[in-house]
Amino acid sequence: MKCPYCGSGMSKGFIQCRDGVYWNETIRPLVALPLGGGKRIRLSDDSFEMFGGHAVEAHYCEDCKKIVIDVK
Ligand SMILES: [Zn+2]
Repeated sequence: MKCPYCGSGMSKGFIQCRDGVYWNETIRPLVALPLGGGKRIRLSDDSFEMFGGHAVEAHYCEDCKKIVIDVK
C-alpha cells in the first residue's frame, strides 16, 4: 500500500487487543460491558481471532508516522 500522505511504501502489520479493536467517537471507560455514547466502529473481525484476542490489519508509514486501517 502507498501512503496517502507522501506516496511512500507502507509496512503491513496488525493492531491487536484482547477485547476487539474499535474506533470511538468519544473516550469510553474500559469496562466489561460497553458504556458511553457516540459513534463506535468495530475495526477487528473474527477472521484474525487468535489466542482469545482480536486484530485488524494496518499499514504504517515510517516517514509520516501514520497508520492507515481499512474499515470493513
Ligand atoms: Zn507517508
